Amino acid sequence: MIYLDNAATTWIAPEVLEAMTPFLQDDYGNPSSIYSLAGRSASALESARQTVADYLGASPDEIIFTGGGSEADNLAIKGTMRKKPGGHIITSAIEHHAVLHTCQALEHQGYELTVLPVDGNGLVDPEDVRQALRPDTQLITIMHSNNEVGTIEPIREIAAVAREAGAKMHTDAVQSLGKTPLNVDELGVDMMAFSAHKVHGPKGVGALYVRKGFRPVPLIDGGGQEKGRRAGTENVAGIVGFGRAVELLGEEGERSVEQMRGLRDKLIEGIMAGIPEVVLTGHPEKRLPNLASFCIRYIEGEGILLSLDMQDIAASSASACTSGSLEPSHVLLAMGYPHEIAHGSLRLSLSRYTTEEEIDRVLEVLPPIIQRLRDMSPLYAEAMKQERSGQNE
Ligand SMILES: *Cc1c(COP(=O)(O)O)cnc(C)c1O
Repeated sequence: MIYLDNAATTWIAPEVLEAMTPFLQDDYGNPSSIYSLAGRSASALESARQTVADYLGASPDEIIFTGGGSEADNLAIKGTMRKKPGGHIITSAIEHHAVLHTCQALEHQGYELTVLPVDGNGLVDPEDVRQALRPDTQLITIMHSNNEVGTIEPIREIAAVAREAGAKMHTDAVQSLGKTPLNVDELGVDMMAFSAHKVHGPKGVGALYVRKGFRPVPLIDGGGQEKGRRAGTENVAGIVGFGRAVELLGEEGERSVEQMRGLRDKLIEGIMAGIPEVVLTGHPEKRLPNLASFCIRYIEGEGILLSLDMQDIAASSASACTSGSLEPSHVLLAMGYPHEIAHGSLRLSLSRYTTEEEIDRVLEVLPPIIQRLRDMSPLYAEAMKQERSGQNE
């Protein structure tokens, strides 16, 4: 099987599973207990925290482990806004639902929300952020990179606007981890969210970086774990796995990023050259090195996915995210694509394990799949008829 849906989730790396296994079996102690069995859990936990902190140029007490990327986003947003009821939030129209729906939930509770537009490449303009500022703006939350089209946002510039205004800056960096450099001081952010299962770690674990001196209101009250910032007995095995996954990112470094970038470029060039009436979505250069996304005219993304699945190729379509319904993606609509084009979206996301043979295979099977689907499409027949009558005039 060829797995090209790494933006949705990734398989657990063998080294990660190996690091986790002892903590699911023999070393099951609760890190808060005092005997040596528990001590092994506690020190594994702290060593994972150190690894994640080092990777980001942060200090260990700035890392709060959470139950995943969505929780980290919720903690950043609700935890900041609930410090002072009724403030103003700035976000963008292309955020992951973990951010967008969280902001909208707060808006229903009486907070003020500005949702900024993006340009045709999915970029937020830092000047728009500046224009949206109000005296009561408490939080700016703009994603580091987009999960559907891969556009990388100018976070450093936006964080500078936030700092000047005295607002907190949060960025969802779930897709960026391991794909592009992330240093908390270079970016100048106050909070940054991560998820383990997007980087070959386990599901259900993530982290929120929170700059020293700031304390978001906890989402979960209870015991004093995570220095009182996130109650509940720690997911030791998951956190150890996350730490090992981040360690591997550090070891792989530029080499795997360059490999993904090369294969992504081959995929983009091959699809653009081999299939007519396709648009590359997202920014042509400022994009994740592992993500290729397209709109393929006259057909539905779902049809492409089912045909690819029959060839044992896993991919995704932006509209499939809001599963079941055929709503086109809010990201593509915000970028200005009309409904009928946004429906034909296709996202292929690579990992460091993706091979050139796999990319070659996709480039071989995709064009005939698209042609077959178009041959069955009334939209395509109509468009061809119009084109022919145009030529006859
Ligand atoms: C996957 C993803 C999330 C959610 O992370 P989970 O760990 O699945 O909760 C949030 N933001 C972005 C950009 C993502 O791609």
